[in-house]
Amino acid sequence: MAELDVTGGFDVHEQRSKFKLLRQDAESMHLENRGGLECPACGAVFDRLFVTDEETVTFSSSPNGPICLVRAPDQLLVLTH
Ligand SMILES: [Zn+2]
Repeated sequence: MAELDVTGGFDVHEQRSKFKLLRQDAESMHLENRGGLECPACGAVFDRLFVTDEETVTFSSSPNGPICLVRAPDQLLVLTH
């Protein structure tokens, strides 16, 4: 198993084979973890990853499981388990 590497920021193209793209717009994307990647925050394998270039983000509903936040240089990452 490998931990998601966010050193220098998250680049989906470097790890494209490990993700399925669920949704994308100009500032953000929502990805499904297909590569068994581990969360940089808690170390457990995560289900989904939300990445945004925005400074703020609002979710209209919350997942049932744990949520981890990871700060990258120019991005905010939200991981759900
Ligand atoms: Zn986590």
